[in-house]
Amino acid sequence: MAGRDGDFKLIRAARLIDGSGAPPIERGAVLLEGGRIRASGPEETVAPPEGARVKEFSYDSHTALPGLIDSHVHLIGIGDGRAGDELTTLPDEVLTLQAARNARAHLYSGVTTVRDCGAKNRTTLELRQAVQMGITVAPRLVLAGRPIAIIGGHLSYFGIQATGPTECVAAVRQLVKENVDFIKITASGGSTRTSVRGRPSFDVDELTAIVNEAHKLGRHAAAHCTDSQSIANAVEAGIDTVIHGRYAEPDGSHKYRPELTERIVERGVFVNPTLHQARERVWQLERKAESEMLSEDEQDLIDQFYQGWESAAAFWGRMKDEGVKLVAGSDASWQHYKLGGTSFQDEITAHVDIGMTPMEAIVSATSDAARSCWIDDEVGSIEPGKKADLLVVEGDPSHDIRALTSVTDVFMDGERVDRGNLV
Ligand SMILES: [Zn+2]
Repeated sequence: MAGRDGDFKLIRAARLIDGSGAPPIERGAVLLEGGRIRASGPEETVAPPEGARVKEFSYDSHTALPGLIDSHVHLIGIGDGRAGDELTTLPDEVLTLQAARNARAHLYSGVTTVRDCGAKNRTTLELRQAVQMGITVAPRLVLAGRPIAIIGGHLSYFGIQATGPTECVAAVRQLVKENVDFIKITASGGSTRTSVRGRPSFDVDELTAIVNEAHKLGRHAAAHCTDSQSIANAVEAGIDTVIHGRYAEPDGSHKYRPELTERIVERGVFVNPTLHQARERVWQLERKAESEMLSEDEQDLIDQFYQGWESAAAFWGRMKDEGVKLVAGSDASWQHYKLGGTSFQDEITAHVDIGMTPMEAIVSATSDAARSCWIDDEVGSIEPGKKADLLVVEGDPSHDIRALTSVTDVFMDGERVDRGNLV
């Protein structure tokens, strides 16, 4: 790593993965000019212009790939197991500070873009202002601000409740006025105490009003759906991303609906399956069990998880095989799942565990995640003209996905991120 400072950086790596799903390029190189990628490919084909001042980085046993895109985070989350109902009682100032902490931790872990799927009031928008002022660092922020919920619905405590198409349209306009990047809807109940689990929330005409208004104003829309009817409603309304998306009947049983899968595929809807969220808690309890006795409830939770994991994995494997585009998004720091560390890599690994190849899982966390966030013209792959967001890891994640956790360097906007001693 020697050379003079200049506008150009030449990054050489034993292996280059461009994020498109193409096979890795052995002995690859990426040329950065300012904040953008100018060229990439086999080492011998990538050269800076004659006489240019170039800073060089050589990674002899490493893989360079696009910075990871976590398409589902909650930056204000604490990740200590508290319910959203309690989280929302914290002052906005504390939540904004927490969002700053989480954003930085996730960036240091290799994630250069996050889509925040719901925060209280203006907390994440205020974080963005602080980032723009240079007060703190964060991955690229794709923000929903507060999610739109029905009265008492899931995440309704974050600040917007709407009834009927007119109020739904008004809610979208209000959020766009506040400069959000996309619209998040809770189309079914969830962990919120006053919401009705296993049932849809908005009606199709309300969802349609939200999605149409979002599209008209150049924003995409993503919907939290934890039952089959809410998925069908959201897809009918023209939703862009379904979040969670496991088929479930109101009684909690799982019945596969081939016609719904066909519709999802036909309409090109992305699905963010949040595979690791429940497993994270199980892993924590298993670590705890090494040194102390678990309570009966804790042991039950582990048993229940493993009883359901096989059928969940089979469901997601079938969705993938039938052509559904699954995109990686962690859902951290919701519940017990903390942002930073290896949290997003754990979600990507879960994609391999349900039957993706490591390369497919990488695509789900880079180029497909970018498409689902409507930012694929700027990020998600290593190609000329795109933002110079890169991750350098030791080893070869196209063979062993866990190599994504061995982060050596992170580049964002063409600058190597100073990860200091805080990693
Ligand atoms: Zn979420």
